Amino acid sequence: MKQDRRRTTFSGRLVMLGFGSIGQAMLPVLPRELGVEPSRVRIVKPTPDETGIAAQHGVEVITTALSEGNHEAVLEPLLGEGDFLLNLSVDVSSLALIRFCRKRGAFYLDTCNEPWPGRYDDPRLTPSQRSNYSLREEALAYRLDKRSGPTAVLTQGANPGLVSAFTKRALLDMAQQTGLKVERPTCYEEWAALARQLQVKVIHIAERDTQTSDRRKAPGEFVNTWSVAGFADEGLQPAELGWGSHERHWPEDAGRHGFGCDAAVYLNRPGIATRVRSWTPLEGPYHGFLVTHAESISIADHLTLRENGQVVYRPTVHYAYHPCDDAVLSLHEMAGRNWQLQHRHRIIRDEISGGIDELGVLLMGNPKGVYWYGSRLSVEQARALVPHNNATSLQVVAGILGGMVWALRNPDAGLVEPDDLDHETVLEAALPFLGDVVGQWGDWTPLQGRSELFPEATDPADPWQFINFRVT
Ligand code: NAD
Repeated sequence: MKQDRRRTTFSGRLVMLGFGSIGQAMLPVLPRELGVEPSRVRIVKPTPDETGIAAQHGVEVITTALSEGNHEAVLEPLLGEGDFLLNLSVDVSSLALIRFCRKRGAFYLDTCNEPWPGRYDDPRLTPSQRSNYSLREEALAYRLDKRSGPTAVLTQGANPGLVSAFTKRALLDMAQQTGLKVERPTCYEEWAALARQLQVKVIHIAERDTQTSDRRKAPGEFVNTWSVAGFADEGLQPAELGWGSHERHWPEDAGRHGFGCDAAVYLNRPGIATRVRSWTPLEGPYHGFLVTHAESISIADHLTLRENGQVVYRPTVHYAYHPCDDAVLSLHEMAGRNWQLQHRHRIIRDEISGGIDELGVLLMGNPKGVYWYGSRLSVEQARALVPHNNATSLQVVAGILGGMVWALRNPDAGLVEPDDLDHETVLEAALPFLGDVVGQWGDWTPLQGRSELFPEATDPADPWQFINFRVT
């Protein structure tokens, strides 16, 4: 298997768009894992690389900010047939780049379906128009007649990305460990049927980042372990979740989109102001933020079963993110500023003194208990594996690498989402970078250990109702 992974190499030209925490983390992996020649790589970003990392790796930086008006002219001389655009930027439209790459015959991969600037926080737009659901529907509409052609992988990082592969692996583990005799599913309907058979009602992307630096957050500063701009952007979008077929309490602030696949709903409040109860094996129970993410919608959509035109099964799917402690303080301060982002941003990496990123999927509803499958990666492990990384960035790098390997082996797949990729190919490439990868059962439910001092509305008859997870 390892040998197979090493055989996937890339000899074309590669453009890396953006060179922030993820770009810097990814650069050393390209020659090492895919045999990419540094002389064939160009980084495009608005300002010179002040970290010196690009120069250290022998890679040229082209200092240009891509915009709606210039992106084709800037990229045209850099990308032709068989070349690769790795989009690790913010504020550049994924769909515009995908259209361009298709015309040029180039591969494409990003880790977030981004619009041009201004859409996430434009008060003139409806919550639905500012949602990831609508961004995804635009991509799916574009894809209708493009199910082949140069492969473009949309939203393949850690989450979204890797977690779609984790979900499939978790379903297979659960089947095996509960004595279900099943064949490996070969299509979405079969994956959905397996999830239903396992009585999975809810899937959380359950993440607890404990990384910390000795230099704590200062007043007026936003600290995070990855893009501050990216986190603030997605955090101010409405909270979004795949809406399960078992749900029987409609949240009073929820809305349906009224178009598209209908697998997800939005709440009329920012994700970073929406907390949910969740659980990871090392952290135990915690409150996480229900920040919108592409995987909440795509996993729910792919695990939907229909009979006679009616949805008969779909799990509720959403993110339950506990970022690093200084990011939580940063969010609290930002909320107090009426959601105006602080001017000073700090992404912590080399200064981190300890901690891990515990990132996985938590599948709930099976009578045996809840099942968490994911990566526990410490900052020390991450640094030892690849320079210029913290635990969070390396989990993203692992997902990107898995997606690139899949794309290079499937060069004519058209536009795909993480759920479309073969999870074994993705995991085979990603696992060496994920530290301890574990599957663990637990007996947690969101009703467990509730304080009697301040009772909240619950549905004790079914622990897996969204009303029981939401912190009010
Ligand atoms: P960052 O903020 O550290 O860096 C962003 C980079 O984009 C910077 O180099 C910036 O100069 C560049 N950029 C900004 N505007 C640009 C423009 N107009 N043209 C060209 N370059 C431009 O962000 P990051 O932490 O490296 O994250 C990069 C992307 O990856 C973001 O979209 C983020 O949401 C995404 N991400 C995804 C995951 C995942 O697991 N799926 C995790 C972390 C980050």
